Amino acid sequence: MELRLENKVAIVTGAGQGLGEAIAKKLAAAGARVAVNDINPDRAERVAGEIRASGGEAIAVVADVSNKFQCVGLVETTRAQWGQLDILVNNAGIEPVSSILKMDEWEWQRCIDVNLKGVFLMSQLCGRVMAEENKERGGVIVNISSIAGVEIPLMHRAAYCASKAGMVGFARECAREFAQYGIRVNTIVPGVFITPMTEKARQNPEMMAKWMREIPMERLGEPEEVANVVLFLCSEASSYMTGSTVTVDGGKVMR
Ligand code: NAP
Repeated sequence: MELRLENKVAIVTGAGQGLGEAIAKKLAAAGARVAVNDINPDRAERVAGEIRASGGEAIAVVADVSNKFQCVGLVETTRAQWGQLDILVNNAGIEPVSSILKMDEWEWQRCIDVNLKGVFLMSQLCGRVMAEENKERGGVIVNISSIAGVEIPLMHRAAYCASKAGMVGFARECAREFAQYGIRVNTIVPGVFITPMTEKARQNPEMMAKWMREIPMERLGEPEEVANVVLFLCSEASSYMTGSTVTVDGGKVMR
């Protein structure tokens, strides 16, 4: 089965770089029209421009996913552009670094607001549109969680771990509630990928050596290797999958 997304409209959050950029480009290459969201305007414009330059359809929409009004703006700008909404990829995320004993309350709150509340806000807003307007077509939501918190702890990233574990719990109930509207909800749990988020850690030889010992495939993931799984979960090839949590980690966790 060919994985095509013709006549579909997608929003990808945090798509100005890293995994989100690869996901936006992958969905566009499969035929979807893509709203490239990021909190950083230059990054969103660059990615949307590159998609258009390679023959795809894309717009850049700046919004902070932790802000409800900006989320409404993101959804409504997308619908105003193309008149429909079929796919949401909740990818935007931040990873503050601090021990629990030293972490500021605001740092904890910001992480939960972006990584977890943002997923709730976008899933609610897009779910309402899909439930009301997509009676025949249904819809798809894909969340990008992490092995951190879901499978293993990650040093000095307690808020991140909590937010990513929370996403999985939220997504399962979201899948149950949204199934009646033909909306499928699945969650990807990535291992370690080569993106700006991991740049600093990748420059640490001890960290790289540790990862190479822990990852049976003995390499980090390329962003496209997450994007390929997102495309599968957005396509009809995964038509009987909802509420699933899919690990993409080169075998790091193996459970
Ligand atoms: P990244 O390189 O940091 O890119 C994330 C993008 O999202 C950045 O452009 C970021 O802007 C933007 N963003 C941050 N807060 C936002 C907000 N409130 N609203 C909209 N956009 C926002 O991260 P990545 O490595 O591609 O990771 C993407 C997702 O995968 C994240 O949810 C991350 O937790 C998850 N993940 C990544 C890995 C990995 O190894 N890379 C592993 C597991 C899970 P700023 O830079 O200005 O904040």
